[in-house]
Amino acid sequence: MSKETASICESCHLDGERESRWTYSIGGMRFNLKDFLLVAIVGILILVSLLLWLVWGIVEAPLLPALIGGIPIVIGAVKGLLRKDMNVGLLISVALIASIIVGKYLPAAIVVFIMHLGEALENITLARSTKAIRKLLELRPRFARVRRNGQEVEVPAIEVRRGERVLVKSGERIPVDGIVVFGQAAVNKAPLTGESIPVEVGVGDEVFEATINEAGVLEIETTKVGRESMMGRIIELVEKVQLEKAPAQRIADRFARYFTPIILVITGLVYYLTGEIINAITVLIIACPCALVLATPTAVLAAVGNAARRGILIKGGRTLEATGQITAVVLDKTGTVTYGQSEVTNIKGFGNLSEREILLKAAVAEKFSEHPLARAVMRKAQAFGLNIPDSSDFKVYPGRGVVAYESGEKITLGNRKLLAEQGIKVPEEVAQFLMDQEEKGETPIILASEHHIEGVVTTADTLREKVSVVVEDLKKTGVKRIIMLTGDNERTARAIAGKLGIKEFLAEQLPEDKVNFVKKLKENYKVVVIGDGVNDAPALATAHVGIAMGAFGSDAAIEAADIALLTDDLTQAVQAIRLSRKTVQIIWSNIILFSLVINAIGMYLAAVGAVGPIAAAILHNVGSFAVIINSARLINYR
Ligand code: ADP
Ligand code: MG
Repeated sequence: MSKETASICESCHLDGERESRWTYSIGGMRFNLKDFLLVAIVGILILVSLLLWLVWGIVEAPLLPALIGGIPIVIGAVKGLLRKDMNVGLLISVALIASIIVGKYLPAAIVVFIMHLGEALENITLARSTKAIRKLLELRPRFARVRRNGQEVEVPAIEVRRGERVLVKSGERIPVDGIVVFGQAAVNKAPLTGESIPVEVGVGDEVFEATINEAGVLEIETTKVGRESMMGRIIELVEKVQLEKAPAQRIADRFARYFTPIILVITGLVYYLTGEIINAITVLIIACPCALVLATPTAVLAAVGNAARRGILIKGGRTLEATGQITAVVLDKTGTVTYGQSEVTNIKGFGNLSEREILLKAAVAEKFSEHPLARAVMRKAQAFGLNIPDSSDFKVYPGRGVVAYESGEKITLGNRKLLAEQGIKVPEEVAQFLMDQEEKGETPIILASEHHIEGVVTTADTLREKVSVVVEDLKKTGVKRIIMLTGDNERTARAIAGKLGIKEFLAEQLPEDKVNFVKKLKENYKVVVIGDGVNDAPALATAHVGIAMGAFGSDAAIEAADIALLTDDLTQAVQAIRLSRKTVQIIWSNIILFSLVINAIGMYLAAVGAVGPIAAAILHNVGSFAVIINSARLINYR
């Protein structure tokens, strides 16, 4: 079995060691040949010993298969004990040794057979549930056509060096992350984002490993390969998930630790009370916590792999579990419910300056700002063909605006808060104009020189059409409160929230207010914050779960968030929440139904002698198998 699954079910294995050279793959199914060889040998020997017994009356014959199959189990158990790991093999070993001592050779042999068969089958199914990761790996092109010394050579993709030029023909997958230096093509990002829309790329555009060149020829200058590429990072994230344990898993692990001694005590009691050694042996066989140990990791892995294929990066079992319990969703306005691409829609003078002069002053003030509003102003200034000089003493007031100086003259540009702070009065006429603009859902910013107002620049952002659908869907998944937060003014916020069907919103929130709001909300709710991961990173980090949108190619956004959506599609957030809820549901059905209930009923039946050791071994494996199959449903859950 592959290395990644070995860690999951180690404490559940009869023998801890898994050798990859015994692993074979047929039609996508991977299985361990050693597992099946042992099953076959034990099975044949049981048949032979039955013959010996029935024909010649040799009662001791089944002892041989019991020993051949049993010794590896006992060795595994002892090894486990040496690692201070109370494993399942221990319970089975005690049961085996007890059976042999009391002369129950045939049941012992059959139990050994069933345990090995069960394990062999589970290994196949477990290997299938890591299919999620292998599916991702298969998306990576293995070879790249590189131009070296004026010649085209084919080399393994991971050996391409930064700066080398890679050629990609129509129909091929791009083998590296890089910049197009020649050619033009329609590129489909579906392998990375799940969103199958071919995008035209040309010289200077960024392209990514594993995306498909659908039409055209590209020459790409390599910037990132292997682990560093976007695809490499996605795979690394998914692989890391297995190392981090979800809370439910920790509970199960702790439980499993006490399980073995408790079961041994119960077994002793059963023997003491019933006087039947067979009942006690049966209790031991049935009680193994295999299903419990498998319950969480199998589900988490299947779900995270599923999400990754759709461009949703969930950073671990803990996140998955928290997301499954979400009751409140906080949406940032700019960049989340809007596209974050503001445009200047109106310029109005309130002094002696012309429109052009107002725009020029505004652009000087915004020149060094990265804010979406600043970019809107700069774009407009460029469209006007303005030449914008540098300012001095530029200062950003987060959530309020900017102040800058141009040849000693102060320029203030921002909202009412900023003007109040700078001691500049807003006359009635201007206030009325601001309100008119805001009622439309647009965002006016005020331009002032030293002491008085020069004009107002109004900006507007485009709303995402899908937001109202998302709000409805969130309610359907059981989210109780959906709140939009913004640093923008009350009227604009109300207009936008109204258009999108968001009932609750909070306006004029400074970044620290947003953080405090999320903190308060966390007292009564499980909170998700959805943002763009750039200027709302503190709020994302404060939430139980932070979801960053449009994280494609943005390392910062991927780092900042618990869940990173590679596309700009808000419905993916809903998908992530749905998948998480389903996962939590499956984990608990695994734990309660297939582990605890089956075990409890089985132990009772065993204690009263209603089932024997063979039925117990079957029941035990049915439980583990049910857990694996139940979790595997998440691989293709939509
Ligand atoms: P949001 O919560 O929508 O992301 P911000 O907190 O970034 O908004 O900004 C809130 C408000 O502060 C803006 O609506 C605008 O009025 C003002 N503001 C912030 N930055 C700037 C800027 N660079 N230029 C002008 N106004 C700004
Ligand atoms: Mg913002």
